[in-house]
Amino acid sequence: MGVNMERGFGLHHVTMLASDPVETLRFYGEVMRLHLVKRTVNFDAPDIHHLYFGDREGRPGTLLTFFPFTDAARGHVGGGAAAALSLAIPAGEMEAWILHLAEQGVDTLGPMERFGEQVLRFEDPFGLALDLIGREGIGATALPILAGATLLSQAPAATEALLVRLIGCEPAGEERGLRRLVIPGSGQSLDLAREGTTLPVETGAGIVHHLAFRVPDEAGLGAIRAELVALGLDPTPVLDRRYFRSVYVREPGGILFEFATDPPGFAVDEPPDRLGTSLQLPPELEPQRAAIERRLAPLTPAG
Ligand code: ZN
Repeated sequence: MGVNMERGFGLHHVTMLASDPVETLRFYGEVMRLHLVKRTVNFDAPDIHHLYFGDREGRPGTLLTFFPFTDAARGHVGGGAAAALSLAIPAGEMEAWILHLAEQGVDTLGPMERFGEQVLRFEDPFGLALDLIGREGIGATALPILAGATLLSQAPAATEALLVRLIGCEPAGEERGLRRLVIPGSGQSLDLAREGTTLPVETGAGIVHHLAFRVPDEAGLGAIRAELVALGLDPTPVLDRRYFRSVYVREPGGILFEFATDPPGFAVDEPPDRLGTSLQLPPELEPQRAAIERRLAPLTPAG
């Protein structure tokens, strides 16, 4: 237990595939009211943006990140994907959000009750299901806070065992075929479909690419990696993602997990009060900046 609390602090970020970058910015910035805290590129494919949204400081635990592949076909969820992403707002602000989303032309379903809370369901422009949770006990906030995800696993028992062992998740009941696994100390939880999903994921826009869990430092990351190897899994080496160091692993149920360090954070390459205001490239890509900027899709509407 103590060990888990030292290294598992909930979700660090969740990364999605999208299509139109302008629409990504409009929806998650204007409609969802998140702050764009980093404009960079996919380090493995620098012709594509990597857009990070979160709270104003871009703190780990608040981050949604997007790869907007221009003209990507819409994906379909299956075993090994997240079926929905959960965002929490103060319970008293649910009515205001329903009105706001209606004004923005977003069709919503509910609110309905799930695990004792009101949940409003809608989709982002790319087909990703979003659950807005009205939560008691969270202070007034202008922006929704990452609260977890609903996961479809090809092997739910194995996925749950891994989450319990590595993250310290605690089972907290079952409702309508979903097992709730609370991540202690984070205010976040993962709802795991009890039945295994064999239908494969069709990757594309609207699909969650991976979920990243917080690790306090590189020593903790090394320990997690060693444990993944000891469990017979096949994690990547420790990768430098500039804003964090990370290890990825495909868990037994087919979901891509990442473990990401809190440091160094987003102020490593631009001042904290100017996060997300200009395109940031890692040093190895900086010499190609002009060519990269030419090839990137514009972030502002044409005309
Ligand atoms: Zn990631």
